[in-house]
Amino acid sequence: MTRDDLADTLEQIALLLELKGENPFKIRAYRTGADTVRQYSGDIFEKAKNDDLKGIKGIGDALQQKLHELASTGKLEFYENLRKDFPDTLFELFKVQGLGPKKVKAVYEMLGVDSIAKLKAVCESGEISELSGFGKKTAEKLIEAIEFREANAEFFRLGDVAAPVQMILDCLRAHPESHQVEAAGSYRRGKEIVHDVDFLVATSQPAAIMDYFVGQEWVQKVIAHGETKSSVYLENGLQCDLRAVKNDEFACALAYFTGSKEHNVAMRGRAIDQGYTLNEYRLAPKEGSGKDAPPTFQTEAELYDYMGMAYVEPELRENTGEVEAATSSDLPDLIRLEQLKGTFHNHTTASDGKNTLEEMARACIDHGLQYLGIADHSKSSFQANGLSEERLLAQIEEIGELNAKLKAEGEDFHIFTGNEVDILKDGSLDYDDELLAQLDYTVASVHNAMTLSESAMTKRIIRAIENPHVTMLGHVSGRLLLQREAYAVNIPKIIDACAETGTIIELNANPWRLDMDWRWWKLARDKGVKCSINPDAHRTSHFDYLWFGIKQARKGWLTADDVVNCLSLEEVKAAIA
Ligand SMILES: [Zn+2]
Ligand SMILES: [Zn+2]
Repeated sequence: MTRDDLADTLEQIALLLELKGENPFKIRAYRTGADTVRQYSGDIFEKAKNDDLKGIKGIGDALQQKLHELASTGKLEFYENLRKDFPDTLFELFKVQGLGPKKVKAVYEMLGVDSIAKLKAVCESGEISELSGFGKKTAEKLIEAIEFREANAEFFRLGDVAAPVQMILDCLRAHPESHQVEAAGSYRRGKEIVHDVDFLVATSQPAAIMDYFVGQEWVQKVIAHGETKSSVYLENGLQCDLRAVKNDEFACALAYFTGSKEHNVAMRGRAIDQGYTLNEYRLAPKEGSGKDAPPTFQTEAELYDYMGMAYVEPELRENTGEVEAATSSDLPDLIRLEQLKGTFHNHTTASDGKNTLEEMARACIDHGLQYLGIADHSKSSFQANGLSEERLLAQIEEIGELNAKLKAEGEDFHIFTGNEVDILKDGSLDYDDELLAQLDYTVASVHNAMTLSESAMTKRIIRAIENPHVTMLGHVSGRLLLQREAYAVNIPKIIDACAETGTIIELNANPWRLDMDWRWWKLARDKGVKCSINPDAHRTSHFDYLWFGIKQARKGWLTADDVVNCLSLEEVKAAIA
C-alpha cells in the first residue's frame, strides 16, 4: 500500500457514490481528500497509519478515520461494501487510458457499459459516439487503449515487481532448509517488463519448501503444487514459479533458468563444440568425447570459467555479443549503483514535485550523493505548474542560498541550477537563450505534440539538440511502459546528432519510462555519446529509481566511464559546462 493507493481508493469511492446518485457535497469531499493525499508534502501514509491526520486541510473527520483503517489494515470496509453494489468488471474500466471518472459514469449510465468487453463493443459499433463528449476520435483512442491493454495484460513493469520479489526472496531465505535462493529469469536479467518471476531454491527438503511456499499469506491462488515445482499468483496477478534443486545442481540451474533462451542456445552450442552437453542440472561429457566429468560447480562463475569464459553478468545474457566477448576477455566492467556520485533531472514543489528543494537536497545527501541537479518544468508545461521566467530566476537565487547554507553546515554537497525545458513543436525551446545561459545545465524534453511523423519528430528533437544550451536530452522516446507507446522518432539519427554536438542522453530511471531503451546504449557508447542516469524524481523516495536506471545501463553494456553522474563534483562541473 502506498500514498497513491490511498488516493485512488478515495477517488473510486467518489465515483461509486456518484454512480449511486449520492449527495454531491459528500462526493466532493472524497475528491478533495484524494487531491490532498496526493499533494501533501510530508509522509501522509505514515500519518494515516498512526491516526495522525488531524488538522490537515481537506481531510475531514470521516475521511481521517477511513484513511487510518485503510493504511493500517490494507482494507476499508466502507469501500468493500460499496463495491458489492456493482459488478466486479466495472472496476477494469478505471484502468483504461483516456477514460476518466466522468466518462466511466457516462458510459455506465447511458449505455450500461460495466466491463472492458462491453466498452470495446460500443466503441466498435459507433454507439459510443452518440454520447456528448465522445467523438469518433475518442472511440478510436479507446479501442487503441483497450487493444494495448489486451496485448500487455499479463506483463508487469520491473518497478512493479521489484518489491514483491524482494519480499519473496526474504521469505524463502528465512526457511531453515533453503540453502541458496535466487530470483532467475527475465527479472534477474533486469528486463524492463517481465511476464512472471522464476525463483530457484537449493535444498535437500524440496517438499517442505513447496508446502511453505504455497502456504504463504501473500499467495492469492495456487496454480500448481508439486514435489519440486510450484506456481502461484500474487494479488497483483503476477505469476511466481518456484523450483527446488539439489545443492550441487544450483549453479547450472541458476544459469539455465536465468536465460535468456538465446544466451542458453549459444552456451549449449559452445559446450557441444568442447565435447560436453549442458542442461539445467549439469555440464556432462558428451558420449564418446572421451572427456572427464567436470567438477561440481558451486557458482555460475565456475561454470563459465570451466567453459573458458569470463563470468557473464545476468543483465548481459541476451546473446548480443556477450558470449564472444566473454571468451576474448572483452566484457565491459559494468557500472554499479555505488559508483553514482550525483543525480540530474529532479523536480521540486516549484513545478509538479511533491517535496521542496531543501527536502530533495537533504534526501540526496542521505543517499550519499555529492550533487543534485534540479530540473523543474518550463512554462509551457502549465499542467505541471511549469515555471515562468520570473519564477525560474527566483529559483536560481533560492538554490544559491541553499548551497551557501549547506556549505555553512559543513556539507560537501552542491545543487546545480537547471530546468527540464520543453522542446516546442518546431524544435525551439521554451525559454530564450539568454535565460538558459544562466542555468548550470538543461534537460530538453518533449511533453506535447507527440503524434508528429517520424521525420518531423526527429527534426524537431535534433533542432533542440543543436542548441548549445541543451546539456542533455530527456526521455527520448516518450514511452510509458505498458501504457503508452513511444512516439515515432529515429533514434540512430538522434544518437548521431548528440555525438556531433556533445549532448548527453539521459537514461530516465523512472520504472514507467526506462528511456532511452537499453537496446540502443551500445550504439550510443560506440559513437562516444555519454549517458546520465536520471531518476526524474518527483519526491524524495524516487531517488531509489536510480537502481532501475543502473539495471538498464548494465543491460546496455555501460561502464562508469560512460555515465556522467559517476564523475566527481569537480569533474562533472567541467563536463556540463
Ligand atoms: Zn519529462
Ligand atoms: Zn521530469
